[in-house]
Amino acid sequence: MFSYRHAFHAGNHADVLKHTTLVALCKYLCGKDAALSVIDTHAGAGLYRLDGDYTETSGEATDGVFRLFQVPIDAVAHNIRAQTAPKKGAVKAIFPEDFCPALQDYAQLLHGLNPKFLETGDTAHLKIYPGSPFIIQKFLEGRDKLKLFELHPTDFKSLSANIAQLGAGRQVTVACEDGFEALKPFLPPPSRRAMVFCDPSYEMKSDYARVSVMVGDAIKRFATGTYVVWYPVIPRPEAHDLPRKLKTLAVKAGRPWLNAVMTVKSSKLTTDDSGEVVRPGLPASGMFIINPPHTLKAQLQLALPQMVVLLGQDRNAGFALDSGG
Ligand code: SAM
Repeated sequence: MFSYRHAFHAGNHADVLKHTTLVALCKYLCGKDAALSVIDTHAGAGLYRLDGDYTETSGEATDGVFRLFQVPIDAVAHNIRAQTAPKKGAVKAIFPEDFCPALQDYAQLLHGLNPKFLETGDTAHLKIYPGSPFIIQKFLEGRDKLKLFELHPTDFKSLSANIAQLGAGRQVTVACEDGFEALKPFLPPPSRRAMVFCDPSYEMKSDYARVSVMVGDAIKRFATGTYVVWYPVIPRPEAHDLPRKLKTLAVKAGRPWLNAVMTVKSSKLTTDDSGEVVRPGLPASGMFIINPPHTLKAQLQLALPQMVVLLGQDRNAGFALDSGG
């Protein structure tokens, strides 16, 4: 069985990019006149403790969500390659009150789950972190529906318990199934409005190919759905090819697409004082969206430079935002 557990990574820089984008998507797509079907193919546990054993062991949230709310004194000195950031020495410190709208919405979500954090502004009180199921559920309205798939038995159990406490009834369903396959019968949805959120662990090399096969099949079934894929940017051919394959699928189907990449640090191996090789951890990740709302690009154009200034760890930090169609 898999060893990946999202609890070790909750609130890291990839989650900040992923979930800020997800909030913007949900805010736009949910609660319209026609019902929206949201399918989260790789749901995780739904809710995470940032002061729990897993998260504290990995410390990844320290360089992610915690950093977002700390004024980046050192960011001022960095020569950050953000496309719209001013030249060296002129990078303005960003306080949470200066956040762009997408980051404000993301912060509001965290404040809602952590009232004492909202009251004090002290990140010591930022203890609960929402995964994609909780984020999406927060925005559902009326006839919107959410279907969650999670294959890891332990995370499935946590997810089921976490969702049960929301009392969302039949609006949210949870299944311990392979999300790549489980998606098929739901497309096209009866209301002809759907968003598919696909966030695999990529623990198995085959996940990369399965993502593009799943998206290719989904577009054939339902060309106007919004397809959202998170992917790691790592020196591995499959990872490199995935956004290119997704772009080809979108272009062939004549659908618009958006690709947002955020880099926080160099991908090079380094050595520590004792000469041991230190792996950098995940340096960058991306969000590829087919049929994005027309508002998303402008929102990410504002959010990405702020995220880079706040989360960038060295002079390799930067972002790219491409679109087409
Ligand atoms: N989407 C979640 C979020 O944003 O909070 C995080 C998901 S995590 C990156 C990936 C999850 O997919 C893990 O919990 C893993 O157990 C699960 N998983 C792996 N393969 C799967 C599959 N084929 N179908 C469904 N879930 C799978």
